[in-house]
This record gives sequence, structure tokens and C-alpha cells, in this order.
Amino acid sequence: MKSVKFENGDEMPILGLGTWKSKPGEVYDAVLHALKCGYRHIDCAPIYQNEKEVGKALQKAFKDGIVTREEIFVTSKLWNNAHKKDQVIPALEKTLKDLKLDYLDLYLIHWPVAQKEVNVSQPADFLSPKEVPLLETWEGMEEAFHEGLTLHIGVSNFNIKNLTEILDNCEVMPEMNQVELHPLLPQNDLIEFCHENGVQVTAYSPLGSTDRTAAMKKDDEPNLMENETIQSIAKKHNISPAQVLIAWAMERDTVVIPKSVNEGRIKENFESLKVELDQVDLEKIAKIKGPYRFVDGTFWTMEGSPYKLEDLWD
Ligand code: NDP
Repeated sequence: MKSVKFENGDEMPILGLGTWKSKPGEVYDAVLHALKCGYRHIDCAPIYQNEKEVGKALQKAFKDGIVTREEIFVTSKLWNNAHKKDQVIPALEKTLKDLKLDYLDLYLIHWPVAQKEVNVSQPADFLSPKEVPLLETWEGMEEAFHEGLTLHIGVSNFNIKNLTEILDNCEVMPEMNQVELHPLLPQNDLIEFCHENGVQVTAYSPLGSTDRTAAMKKDDEPNLMENETIQSIAKKHNISPAQVLIAWAMERDTVVIPKSVNEGRIKENFESLKVELDQVDLEKIAKIKGPYRFVDGTFWTMEGSPYKLEDLWD
């Protein structure tokens, strides 16, 4: 499979399976089916509350000889409630225990936002950047790397300013920035900055994250897969709109992690690897009018929070 390369030559499969919103009862079959289809990369996080089931599926795949540990690439993320330096390794160890793995391929700081508790976005729950600076969290990530608990470390939802703070002061480089990317939010400047600085980029919500709860959606939210340009390109190549969106991400050398728990769609998404978009398609996609953010971060920036939207995004 096509891959992106880290500085030490390790490769990360360019296409992976996303697992946010995949219910524990569904994710076991989804992961097994994906591995049988040929996926070699699974994107996880403890906040998705399904790492135990992902772990069971991985064990089953190892036992049945579908894949070996070395053949797959597993990413997970540090949640906001463990940003203090001495909390990072215990949080990673819990994820490893749930995933039933000895090491991760990639561990990311999920958000540049520190909280006291799990998933409670109340102003009183936040720890300000002064109380827990990003660099303190990054030092914890470096320790985890040195202990061999993860082969690579990186960040997620970081803008150029936050990344620069780490890049200018780190001992171990962040090697990945996982951010929202699709034709309505191409983030060309951020990708250029990352690639110039040896940071690979992963595209999350590449299909427009249609299965978010109503509370996370705006009424007038656009639907990427129903976009006219995307649909016309899909028709031209006799492929699905999802395949256009996934192929577009890979064309830009960004890793892409569409989520699905449906066997047919998991296979369909994997087959995007065979899709070749031409220059005319790319020019048409570049003209799609944005920007639009599906995962807009407003849940971290309510009144009274020390985090502001203008600090979160570029
Ligand atoms: P996606 O953009 O991947 O969209 C998922 C939705 O698309 C689901 O409703 C899924 O339904 C549907 N879908 C999947 N394939 C197809 C297809 N071929 N045709 C039609 N519909 C399809 O959303 P996510 O937000 O889940 O993003 C992907 C992954 O990125 C996440 O699962 C997570 O791993 C990661 N992520 C990381 C974030 C971060 O902060 N770092 C934030 C958001 C996401 P169904 O399952 O029924 O097929």
C-alpha cells in the first residue's frame, strides 16, 4: 500500500480505518473486516470508548494469522485530562492495556487543550495553557517515546503557532499533525508548513463526518458527499463520492482515515487506493467554496474557558 515515510525510514500506510463513533458492538467486526480487506492502519483514541473492542479484534486477527503486529500501524491519542507530564505514560499504558499491545506506532496529543476531568467541557474543568503548557505535555510524550511505548509521537488539531512552539523547543520532533481536511477545508498553508518541517499530516473527517450527533452539528451544515463537483467527478470515473474524497486526500500526500462500520463501505473506501484523479478533477475540487469546519472546536471555547477559537485555528 502507498505510505508516507518518517525521518527514520518507517512507513505509515496512507489509508487507515477511523474509529470515532464506532460503537463497541460494531467496531470489533469493522476492524476485523478492514484487516481482511487489506487495511493495515487503525486510528484509535481512548475518548472513542472502544479501544478494548479494537484490542479484541486485533488479537483475533493475530491469532487467525490475518496480520502480524509488525504488519499493522496503530495510532492512539492522549486525552485532554492527562496533559501533565507525569500523566502521559500512565494514560498511554492504559491505552496499550485496552488495545492489548506492547507498543503503539504513533501516539498523538489529541487537542491542544488541557482539562481536569474526562470529557466534561465546562469552563471550570479547563486547565489553562499557563497551568499546563503544551511543552510540558510534549516532554511527557518524549518520555513515552524514549521508553519504547510508542515508535513515533505527534500532535492533532495543532495550528502553525502551536506546532512552532513544540518544534522550536523539543528534543524529539513531532512527526504527525492529524487535522480536519477535505475539499471544504483544504488547509494548504498548514500542510505546506508541516511538510517543510518534516511533519506528516493525517486528514480526519475526510467524508464530512456525517454521523456526528445533532448536538455537534449546525442546521445549515453542508454535505460533502452530496457536493455537485464531487458527484460529477464520481460519475465521470464511475466511482463513489467517498472514493473521490479519499483519493483526493491521498493525491495530496496526506494520510486519510475514513470511518465506517459497514462492510461494503469499508471495502469501497479501501478501493480508493486504485482511483486516479486527473488534473481537471483536482482543479475543479480546488474551486469548491469553503472554508467549512465540521469539528469546529466550539466545545472547548465556551464563555469562561481559557481557550479561544482564534487561538485554536490559524
Ligand atoms: P468521516 O468523514 O470518516 O465520515 C464518517 C461517516 O461517513 C459515517 O457516517 C460513515 O457511515 C460514513 N461513510 C463511510 N464510508 C462511506 C462511504 N463509502 N459512503 C457513504 N458514507 C460513508 O468522519 P469522522 O469524523 O469519523 O472522521 C474519520 C476518523 O478521523 C474518525 O473516525 C477518527 O478516527 C478521526 N478523527 C480524529 C479527530 C481528532 O480530533 N484527531 C476528530 C475527528 C475524527 P458508516 O460507518 O455507516 O459507513
